[in-house]
Amino acid sequence: MLIDGHGRVVNYLRVSVTERCNFRCLYCMPEKPFSWTPKENLLSFDELFKFIKVAIDEGVNKIRITGGEPLVREDLDYFIKLINEYKSDIDLALTTNGFMLDSVAQKLKDAGLKRLNISLDSLKPAVAAQIAQKNVLGSVLAGIEKALEVGLKVKINMVPLKGINDSEILDILEFARERDITVRFIEYMENAHANSEIVGLNGKEILEAIKKRYTIKKVGRVPNSPSFHYEILENSYRFGLIDPHKHDFCEDCNRIRLTAEGHLIPCLYFDEAQSIAEAVRDDNIDKAALILKDVLANKPKENRWSEEETNEKSSRAFYETGG
Ligand code: SAM
Repeated sequence: MLIDGHGRVVNYLRVSVTERCNFRCLYCMPEKPFSWTPKENLLSFDELFKFIKVAIDEGVNKIRITGGEPLVREDLDYFIKLINEYKSDIDLALTTNGFMLDSVAQKLKDAGLKRLNISLDSLKPAVAAQIAQKNVLGSVLAGIEKALEVGLKVKINMVPLKGINDSEILDILEFARERDITVRFIEYMENAHANSEIVGLNGKEILEAIKKRYTIKKVGRVPNSPSFHYEILENSYRFGLIDPHKHDFCEDCNRIRLTAEGHLIPCLYFDEAQSIAEAVRDDNIDKAALILKDVLANKPKENRWSEEETNEKSSRAFYETGG
């Protein structure tokens, strides 16, 4: 079992397989052209898998593949298959923008993927294009329908932004409800890479928008996560609200993050990380295990997205760590 320096059990690994993305979402990516990490600096799927085996052997039982956009990395189904064949009862999930999903959903399911979170910020083609800075909506919707058709469990993620997509909170909720899938509204997390003009809605504002149509009650927090469940009394539909601006979820945080370059990150907010790249390239599994334990020993107690510290901005790039 993996236990961090604050006595928390860590069993959840988020793996960003690429920082590259085919979208340029206003809340995530830099506006100016920037250069990607050279491909030779990235760990291969086999190298990432060497570390994943260590993490699984030590007690990780939940893995989420993310990015950047994970589907832009070729042969992702091979990587999923490696993990699934090593331990088939791992809760194996993927976060994607859905743009390339239509053609690969079946392959991912066959490889052993169980769950998918798909980002859907608007149902209006022009607004979706404004946020992603690309004409994306048709392909994303096709991806969502295909994922459901092949039997993958799907959740929708929306980041409501003032004056951009905040009028669509109820539309996205109904879209998810009609398909019997969960939607989670995510508070915009301030970060140094996002468009400087954007302002996110806070949790209270998101709930106010839903209360215009429905009566809602708070059901409780999803264990080990910043996500809260709410229920609509009129139809019993449950949705989620992800509110990272509070600290109360840090006390049982169970996650660590691995980037495509091999940086092992104990907390999404802070820059601290240690590299496992050399250890896996040298096949030094004992060293990889030691680095894992050291990162856990130094996992910060809590993030700094608190409401009191309103000027706080994380310098972490979400497209690198996977959000
Ligand atoms: N490309 C994939 C996608 O779009 O879902 C995976 C990577 S993306 C970084 C993972 C999640 O982080 C998405 O749901 C996205 O909406 C969310 N995200 C990215 N930047 C964010 C920010 N600044 N605040 C809140 N959520 C953010």
